Amino acid sequence: MILRIEKIGLSLKAEDELLNKLLESGKAHYPKEFGGFLMGYYSEDNQCLHITDTILPKKYQASKYSFERSTKGVEKEFTEFYSGNPRKVYVGEWHTHPDSSPIPSTTDISAINTIINNKNTCIPNPVLLIIGYSQTTEDFGFYVWFENKLYKYD
Ligand SMILES: [Zn+2]
Repeated sequence: MILRIEKIGLSLKAEDELLNKLLESGKAHYPKEFGGFLMGYYSEDNQCLHITDTILPKKYQASKYSFERSTKGVEKEFTEFYSGNPRKVYVGEWHTHPDSSPIPSTTDISAINTIINNKNTCIPNPVLLIIGYSQTTEDFGFYVWFENKLYKYD
């Protein structure tokens, strides 16, 4: 799918194959939340982001209403993406909301702030993907942090 926010001039592209993969690995952890890192690359003018891959955490803590991942044990995977051709970088995070809608919680928003303030990650406009799902529905909510505000891709 391709999404765009006119107001801030950013657009985002993600293949259905990747999104299905995220949904399936999320569902495998039902009823707990699950998630991981989003990898991809930006266009030359930085306005278009192509999300291509995920790195799934090896260490994490999850409940039905929370998810916290660690980068421990996946450092090598990051390095491989960074040194690949095309070079793919960390662009944001994803996690599920089982039996719920893809609306960021206050914890989700403070987690984004932690990412932005982390000198090691250092990405200007991190993306947050929340997958709300139930037995019969699935809803992908894409958000981007832009100039101190969270915007939703519609
Ligand atoms: Zn959440």
